[in-house]
Amino acid sequence: MAMRIDTSVLRDMKTFGAFDISACFNCGNCTAVCPLSQDSVAFPRRMIRYAQLGQKANVVASRELWLCYYCAECSDTCPRQAEPGEFMASARRFAIAGFDPTTIARRLCRSATFTCALLAAVFAALLVILLAGSPGGPTGRVTSDALLTFVPYETIHWLGVGVGVVALALTVATTVNLLWAISRAPTPGGLGLPARQAQVFPLAAALNAVGTTLAEVFGQMRYRDCDTEKPAPPVPLPLRRWFVHYSIMMGMIGLALATALDYFFKTPGSYVPLWSPVRLLGTVAGAFLVYGATIAVIQRLRKSDKYSSHSLLSDWLFLGLLWGIGVTGFVLELADYASLSSWVGVVFLVHIALAMELILLLPFTKLAHIVYRPLAIWFTEFRSLRATND
Ligand code: SF4
Ligand code: SF4
Repeated sequence: MAMRIDTSVLRDMKTFGAFDISACFNCGNCTAVCPLSQDSVAFPRRMIRYAQLGQKANVVASRELWLCYYCAECSDTCPRQAEPGEFMASARRFAIAGFDPTTIARRLCRSATFTCALLAAVFAALLVILLAGSPGGPTGRVTSDALLTFVPYETIHWLGVGVGVVALALTVATTVNLLWAISRAPTPGGLGLPARQAQVFPLAAALNAVGTTLAEVFGQMRYRDCDTEKPAPPVPLPLRRWFVHYSIMMGMIGLALATALDYFFKTPGSYVPLWSPVRLLGTVAGAFLVYGATIAVIQRLRKSDKYSSHSLLSDWLFLGLLWGIGVTGFVLELADYASLSSWVGVVFLVHIALAMELILLLPFTKLAHIVYRPLAIWFTEFRSLRATND
């Protein structure tokens, strides 16, 4: 019986990025040169084949999508300029859209108008809520206390709780879809698990896989491997892609941690010296975030490599959100130690709204990969350990 090929899948995927795998003749060169591809998790050619055959479920369920860091080695050596690296990036966006039941992620990738309208609407809604109980803007020289009178702490607290709950619910829903998909995907390459009688959960393998995943997330070993395979000319460390990515990631983690510690242990509006550990953590993390976001924006503007050459509007806005949160955070920190005038109230308002918007959009943007990538790494390692142990 002849196999039916659904060409609409490839057409649909092309709206998520700038690749042309219709030119691909399946030579396998991309998989051979990929520094991260292995026998058990070979990519990108297999994902390309799925897309060519219209096997949407297999594309979306490929955990290999999340093991690729877009070093573009494959794109540089593809004899047909099919851009397999960009294909993988587009397939990740396609997968994020596939896991999202609201269709917001899909529309963010495909429509600049929708992207602008959604961001503006969410931002405006957050401002309205934040200002609802405000007695009016601060006047004269502004202190932290005055800022928390302008936007009452209770308003920030309860809005933050609401945003957190909504973002968590959406993230759980999309993550369940990811786990369901990748747990049912076939594992070509000989590490498939044979059917067997019910057995106890392999806890040791699961825990070992957690260790490997944490080492990868915080050490970025695979990303470094991917980056160091790049041909000459060498790029200085502060400008290397893995370092820029690392700066942004550690900046976000550090700021989230500092905010949580402040929330639990600091009286709102109270003074803390610049050298207190939590304040230092927030300052250093903010510096990393602003540095990483600034370099990423410059590299995208200059299109300094293939990764930086293809940007969707949602990528720009995501970087813009990060940069805005970092810079406004520093202005607010300055307000704790210097006497600034009433315009700091606007900065305060914008900072809170941007931070909450970023959290709300987590499941719909590339930020989702902070959840998806570790899970895919864990699952891959878990399966590998199980297959080895059995
Ligand atoms: S190297 Fe290019 S042509 Fe060869 S399989 Fe990969 S994408 Fe296709
Ligand atoms: S972009 Fe790099 S990591 Fe991703 S598939 Fe290509 S060679 Fe492999």
